[in-house]
Amino acid sequence: MSLRIVVCVKYVPDATGDRHFADDLTVDRDDVDGLLSELDEYAVEQALQIADEADDAEITVLTVGPEDAKDALRKALSMGADKAVHVEDDDLHGTDVMGSSLVLAKAIEKTGYDLVVCGMASTDGTMGVLPALLSERLGVPQVTLLSEVSVEAGVVKGRRDGDAASEALEAALPAVVSVTDQSGEARYPSFKGIMAAKKKPVESWDLEDLEIEAGEVGLEGAWTKVDSATERPARSAGTIVKDEGEGGRQLAEFLAGQKFI
Ligand SMILES: Cc1cc2nc3c(=O)[nH]c(=O)nc-3n(C[C@H](O)[C@H](O)[C@H](O)COP(=O)(O)OP(=O)(O)OC[C@H]3O[C@@H](n4cnc5c(N)ncnc54)[C@H](O)[C@@H]3O)c2cc1C
Repeated sequence: MSLRIVVCVKYVPDATGDRHFADDLTVDRDDVDGLLSELDEYAVEQALQIADEADDAEITVLTVGPEDAKDALRKALSMGADKAVHVEDDDLHGTDVMGSSLVLAKAIEKTGYDLVVCGMASTDGTMGVLPALLSERLGVPQVTLLSEVSVEAGVVKGRRDGDAASEALEAALPAVVSVTDQSGEARYPSFKGIMAAKKKPVESWDLEDLEIEAGEVGLEGAWTKVDSATERPARSAGTIVKDEGEGGRQLAEFLAGQKFI
């Protein structure tokens, strides 16, 4: 039987761009370019490697986000995923992590799955809690923060590296895993992959398709809200040390002053 892998990928504002808040204190997403969260490229890569080892596997990439979020799906498809699901609805505006996990869990159940693969954190929200919330909502085990992952005979196995020890973990499928940026470099999409991605199916669902009430998500359904947001002051010019024979001493004094040494 085919191994059904769902990879959750997030479309995030480009961290190198200027990010601003709109009047309702949500991120002004129109104002900045977005991309597939770099940490989720590792999740796509691990799914592709698991699928390569399986007799028969199908990878669905899933995102919840605005119209542009399709770009993240296309990138994952061009890396080699088979199909994509995009959940988009105006009522998702302002959704927090509780709402996002609800929408993703419903979409995963509708798609059908044996294994859900997530990144270790998004590069914008960086809460790193979504995989755990998903496992709770789906009622399946979670094995998070893996730097190595594989599937054998209905069991997902992995290695989680800590400061003092590495743990070998496993869970029976169906399960949710998240993988770290140590799990192995993500491949670049090939020209062939980019061309093939244009023909791969992308399904679009809204809240009604997932039988979710508007009030359960969006700003109304959010458990947390942003009270205020203040832009960081511009960085001041750094200290320049010119070496005219005394550079080493000046550097040491500067570092000592900052309590670095
Ligand atoms: C339409 C929309 C509107 C939003 N509006 C707001 C807002 O107004 N204010 C605000 O503070 N936040 C908003 N968010 C962001 C949202 O609250 C959090 O980013 C999200 O709930 C998950 O938290 P995180 O990004 O920290 O996830 P993490 O827990 O750090 O992510 C871990 C992993 O979960 C997966 N994942 C996370 N989010 C998604 C996703 N959307 N689709 C697919 N996979 C995902 C990825 O694999 C990721 O690597 C919005 C999100 C969406 C989709």
